[in-house]
Amino acid sequence: MVHVRSKPLSFLLFISKILVIFLPPIGIVVAMVLMWGGLFRWTDLLLFVALYLATGFGITVGFHRYFTHRSFKANPFVAWLLGILGSMAIEGPLDWWVATHRRHHRHSDHDLDPHSPHAGRMPGWMGFFKAFLHAHVGWSFRNDCTNTEIRRFAPDLLKDPVSVRISRLFPLWAIAGLLLPAAAGWAMEPGWRGALLGFLWGGLVRVFMVHHTTWSVNSACHLWGTRDHETEDQSRNNILFGFLALGEGWHNNHHAFPSSARHGLKWWQFDASWIVIRVLCLFGLVSDLKTPRGSSRRESVAESWPDASV
Ligand SMILES: [Zn+2]
Ligand SMILES: [Zn+2]
Repeated sequence: MVHVRSKPLSFLLFISKILVIFLPPIGIVVAMVLMWGGLFRWTDLLLFVALYLATGFGITVGFHRYFTHRSFKANPFVAWLLGILGSMAIEGPLDWWVATHRRHHRHSDHDLDPHSPHAGRMPGWMGFFKAFLHAHVGWSFRNDCTNTEIRRFAPDLLKDPVSVRISRLFPLWAIAGLLLPAAAGWAMEPGWRGALLGFLWGGLVRVFMVHHTTWSVNSACHLWGTRDHETEDQSRNNILFGFLALGEGWHNNHHAFPSSARHGLKWWQFDASWIVIRVLCLFGLVSDLKTPRGSSRRESVAESWPDASV
């Protein structure tokens, strides 16, 4: 189910997508050239790592495991914080992100899946390459993939004042995600040089890395890796993205148990997001963590989020 946007709005969205997708790689090139010329501080790397983790967990713990799958309960402060940090990853407004991801679960690797590397794939290497590109980022430019109806897939978010406000203020969080590292860079070395390096490493380079690890869960984790569970899709447990995507690469586990707060189910399947959730739980900030422990059957998609009218 899709809804139609007006032409000026569609054009504006198209331009903003171009900027969001192409500015970060340009930022990486500029950062590398400056580094080659000796313009680099170790504190920039620290800023990059700190913001990669903060906004990455905003996506994995916040957007995905909390808002999309409601795999634990959080107090309002934590919900706000996770929502804002996830928005600072600049992957789109919270309500749209959640609706799109639920649609992925509902139609995994079938025609209505917004980003499958399998549905509609043409034969041969060219077909494979095109399908990979579509699942990774190309789908962002196709209206039939991005016009997911929020009322249908995320009605619970539209009733929740916290997620409504976070979603509406998305442009503010996105800009803050770029200006804050610039301000931090300035604080570490007053002047335009400090601000530029902070903006590049904590802003554009970090956004590039968070984007591509998230997108790899949609593309690589439906193509390469092991299948511990017989799911009706092509999801895979991929060790590389198990680490890089902070636990989200155990994607076959996730498709088998969508509402589980824990994705790395074996002892060696390192799941950084699960550790964060456990620590938050220890401090009483989140509760009611769902896990598949003791459950021998897979969950149906409809069980994985409230108000499932899909
Ligand atoms: Zn998937
Ligand atoms: Zn999911």
